Amino acid sequence: MKHLGAILWLTGLSGAGKTTIAHNLDQKLQTRSYPTEILDGDIVRIYLSQGLGFSKQDRDINVRRIGFVANLLSRNGIIAIIAAISPYRQVREELKKTSTKFIEIYVYAPIAVCESRDVKGLYALARAGQIQHFTGISDPYEEPINPEIICQTDRFTVEQCVKGFARK
Ligand code: ADP
Repeated sequence: MKHLGAILWLTGLSGAGKTTIAHNLDQKLQTRSYPTEILDGDIVRIYLSQGLGFSKQDRDINVRRIGFVANLLSRNGIIAIIAAISPYRQVREELKKTSTKFIEIYVYAPIAVCESRDVKGLYALARAGQIQHFTGISDPYEEPINPEIICQTDRFTVEQCVKGFARK
């Protein structure tokens, strides 16, 4: 069976819920026999972007690399699910233009909520000045202007967020 690939690009602050939603979505799609692959920002930084930092330039390079791999996957029929902060609008828009079936998903929770979750303990370190260039604290996050989907993870459960995809 020929599958139609796509890029489901989850963008948002650290702790907003990108990884959680990516895995839930991945499971649901695989149960329905769709071929999928997750590209998680944290893992990409180990294997694909080691050595890159968190300047705008390095972040843009990182996002373009993820976009390149996502395109290879999607054009071969795979649904590439990306969970990456990808804070800069321009490079996301660039990928949207150069990719087919690029679906931008804004995973949103107010920064206070993300910070109270502090899944990886990074907000505390950023507040203490032990991490520089931390998105939302000491580095910008440019919200999507016209995302295809918004997941409000402070108002809805993971299941509700992922169910919302089916209606699109
Ligand atoms: P990110 O990948 O964006 O950094 P994570 O998925 O690692 O974020 O962490 C999000 C945290 O928020 C998890 O602990 C998750 O259980 C919790 N959470 C609460 N509600 C939701 C929701 N509706 N969607 C996603 N995550 C949620």
